[in-house]
Amino acid sequence: MCGILGAIRDRNVTESLLKGLETLEYRGYDSAGIFIRSKDSHQLCRTVGATRELREKIGNQLPEGTLGIGHTRWATHGKPSERNAHPHPCGNVFIVHNGIVENSDSLRKWLSGQTVFCSDTDTETIGRLIDFLMTRDNLSLLEATRRAIPLLDGAYSFLVTSGSGEQSIVAVQNGLPLLVGKTARGGIFFSSDMSAFPAEIISIIALAHGDIVCFGEGENNDEFFRAFEKTRERISVDRSVPEQEGKGFYPTYMFKEICEQPKVLQSLLCQSIVSRGAELDIAFPENIEAKLANVRRILIVGCGTSYHAGLLGKYMIESLGEIPVEVEIGSEFRYRDPYLGQGDLLLAITQSGETADTLGAIRMANDRGIPVVSLVNVPGSSAVRESSASFLLQAGPEFGVASTKTFLAQVCVMTLFALKLAKHAESKTGSTRTALLEELRNIP
Ligand code: GLU
Repeated sequence: MCGILGAIRDRNVTESLLKGLETLEYRGYDSAGIFIRSKDSHQLCRTVGATRELREKIGNQLPEGTLGIGHTRWATHGKPSERNAHPHPCGNVFIVHNGIVENSDSLRKWLSGQTVFCSDTDTETIGRLIDFLMTRDNLSLLEATRRAIPLLDGAYSFLVTSGSGEQSIVAVQNGLPLLVGKTARGGIFFSSDMSAFPAEIISIIALAHGDIVCFGEGENNDEFFRAFEKTRERISVDRSVPEQEGKGFYPTYMFKEICEQPKVLQSLLCQSIVSRGAELDIAFPENIEAKLANVRRILIVGCGTSYHAGLLGKYMIESLGEIPVEVEIGSEFRYRDPYLGQGDLLLAITQSGETADTLGAIRMANDRGIPVVSLVNVPGSSAVRESSASFLLQAGPEFGVASTKTFLAQVCVMTLFALKLAKHAESKTGSTRTALLEELRNIP
């Protein structure tokens, strides 16, 4: 999982790209880079480390240019090193990429007669392929990208631009999220995550799976963007979340997020626990209640920390809810052929709502007609868009790579699910639901 970012506007883009990359660091921080282009020159700067190291390498003289792309990397193909950092120079093409090209080895073999590779990444095969098609068939960047896509296997999104000639950025969404935002003055930003957009963005759309779009300098981006707004999902531009303002006086994001835990739990519990006379009960949004009403088996899918929250969820749901629960890591679930039947419910747990393997599991359940409830922290994310119902954890942005407040919120919601599913007001341990809910309310 990497962070990708791009901008094309009427003034220098370097500072806004560097700021955006800082926010994207939680998606990957083994290396970082930017490519900045002006009318007749360009600069590429890459380094091992995160944006701080990138700023140090750039020094005081920020590159000048009205078009740029940037990246924070979490390596999948090729170790973290400067030559493997994005953006990748591929002849006249420059690329930043999130995801995996599964057939990159065979493409590399095929292309190595025509071009020289400079990195060990799968990403470079995309850039080299586009550059090769542009040169061989005299194609524009957009047309060459269109022809390259059917030759690539995998789930990915990327941005490509060129070092000379047309000044445009081509954006491709093939199963991993990519958002496009617009400023009031017609500037266009691309990002894998909405938190990286600058404050001046006034409208955001999510590209759909299979989209290949091109925004060019000096072109009518406004009109093009408006046409997209009519057919693509619009994401609300929420600037009200205080956590987006940075670490405040805390030394690290992780410490800040740990300190936010009581507040997060309190708001979850206030919103879900209701009084009915002397008894306490649980009230979920109607679409979640409907999905839980007829469930006979729950399949919990998550990756990393979310998977571990799922293991705790299993203990609680089986014990209190008396419903069989299976928990599986997203990458296992999606690449086998699991038995899914009537009465099954997929509970997908993902902080970002963009975890590729969890999304793969959601899509598999959708294809097989199994309802999906997702526990997600990021509104407007792919998991929210693609699930039958979503429970929003509302824990606020979590930048710490080790999840803290979101993990706790996931466990809290699954405890509530377990109690909601409990058929009897008195649990096997003898506590009443009201007593357990009261204990839960004391936790914050
Ligand atoms: N596969 C690319 C690389 O290793 C992108 C990594 C990712 O999206 O995590 O550079």
